[in-house]
Amino acid sequence: MKTNTEGLVLREYISGENNRFVTVLTKELGIVDCYAKGSKSLKGGKSSATQLLSYSALSLFHGRSNYIIDEAESIASFFNVAKDYDRYCVSQYLCELAIQMVMEDTPAEKYLELLLNCLHVLTNGTRSPLTVKLVYEIRMMVLSGVMPNIVYCSGCGCYEADTMYFDYCDNKLICSACTDGSGKLARLSRGALFALRYISLSEPKKIFSFRVSEESLVQLSYCAESFVIAHNGRECYSLKSCRHLRNI
Ligand SMILES: [Zn+2]
Repeated sequence: MKTNTEGLVLREYISGENNRFVTVLTKELGIVDCYAKGSKSLKGGKSSATQLLSYSALSLFHGRSNYIIDEAESIASFFNVAKDYDRYCVSQYLCELAIQMVMEDTPAEKYLELLLNCLHVLTNGTRSPLTVKLVYEIRMMVLSGVMPNIVYCSGCGCYEADTMYFDYCDNKLICSACTDGSGKLARLSRGALFALRYISLSEPKKIFSFRVSEESLVQLSYCAESFVIAHNGRECYSLKSCRHLRNI
């Protein structure tokens, strides 16, 4: 059966001189592993359309064990992000987290939209790599059905304070008056908490329309990263190359 879809290449393995296996985040099928024919045999003539960080219109056949890319036409490429080491590291983490969190054979239009938006911002440089990373982490959790419980303190119900804490394992907010120090806590300034609420609840096109201090950004990054790891139960390999970004 043939499927026409659009997808972003998240990972590639080179096999022999002219063949590649790629993992693609597609609109209709979620995460799929595909065999990409060599450049000479690929219809459409553009093998660059199946390279890492390419966003392409794809024609897929389902073979015995995986999909085969029959035709590919590039729509956009984000590989320019590799010109900057920090931005490249974050791009690899975004892709790996998508592989970890998006299901196979399930429509994934909203995940794809989020990843394309983040790669676009990462490439054009309008926000820092650390900002892109934490926004992506928070929105990936929201898309996965795990909305952070950040409206009120779970103890006294207060809405805001100079310092509050997010328990990223139990998914609850607690103020400094109510906490006894137990739980896995990420400290949040007033600005960091407001930004966390904004990023979690805003419409997809406005997720980057916020400003916070660098100190709040670092708090927010630790909070978002810890929340993702607690939910997934493991870290992405590529996360190690991103940790230095919090040393602002
Ligand atoms: Zn409280």
